[in-house]
Amino acid sequence: MKYQDGIEPKKYKADSRFNFACHKGKECYTHCCSDLNMILTPYDIVRMKNRLGLTSDQFLAIYTKPEMLARTQLPVVTLKMLDDDNKSCPFLTQQGCTIYEDRPVTCRYYPLGMASFREQEIEPTGEDFFFMVREAHCLGHEADKEWTVSEWRKDQGVELYDEINRGWMEFMLRKKSFAFQMELSEQSRSMFFMVSSNVDKLKRLIFESTFLDKFDIEKDVLEKIKTDEAALLKFGFDWLQSALFGADKVKMRDEVLKAYNEKAVEK
Ligand code: SF4
Ligand code: SF4
Repeated sequence: MKYQDGIEPKKYKADSRFNFACHKGKECYTHCCSDLNMILTPYDIVRMKNRLGLTSDQFLAIYTKPEMLARTQLPVVTLKMLDDDNKSCPFLTQQGCTIYEDRPVTCRYYPLGMASFREQEIEPTGEDFFFMVREAHCLGHEADKEWTVSEWRKDQGVELYDEINRGWMEFMLRKKSFAFQMELSEQSRSMFFMVSSNVDKLKRLIFESTFLDKFDIEKDVLEKIKTDEAALLKFGFDWLQSALFGADKVKMRDEVLKAYNEKAVEK
């Protein structure tokens, strides 16, 4: 059966079942690695730039293209395909993916997709669900091997990615729910872009500016985010949700908050 965009019109949940198998030597091996419009998640970028030994700035300049999500007007980056006949992924070789252990979460999920990546399908309830991509070139669907969505996620190592990207997903969900009441300023969009795509810059903001004079961060959290980029990302999204949506996650120092309030009253 053919579906529009190759997407089966059915919601998959954690216990939904499907048949699939993918391995080297399959006739279609690597046919799925070209001409992709793949949004990179914050943790994808961290894993890939570290794998390649690049700074965030270098990785973004060489491997990504900026894009604005139409519905939420949030800036993201997509993986830049090569300028060859097939528009191949830059990490594709005849032997397969050269960054396989650090491949993006979209590659891990395939042939499943996460609904949160299709803006029109972000559930207002925040409930996770998935969709199935059935493309003619992919022979993996013909296999006898059966999976539940949970088993597939575990096998492909996506649980860790989803846990670390949770704040990013939540931010997009909140923005979507507020979309018609709330326009983010240019500065807020830049903050979102920095946390989503540039941990090096976020780290400099926290440790090399007046950030710590303004925010009250526990010592053990500070120690952790100094060396652990996954923890830094999670902290970054807690900070964004506090700064932009008033979430009670990262608190301003009492004296700074008092001074802000006094200034606001004077105005
Ligand atoms: S990152 Fe690897 S798995 Fe993903 S599209 Fe590129 S070559 Fe394929
Ligand atoms: S089975 Fe599908 S996912 Fe696996 S290599 Fe073939 S086209 Fe790609």
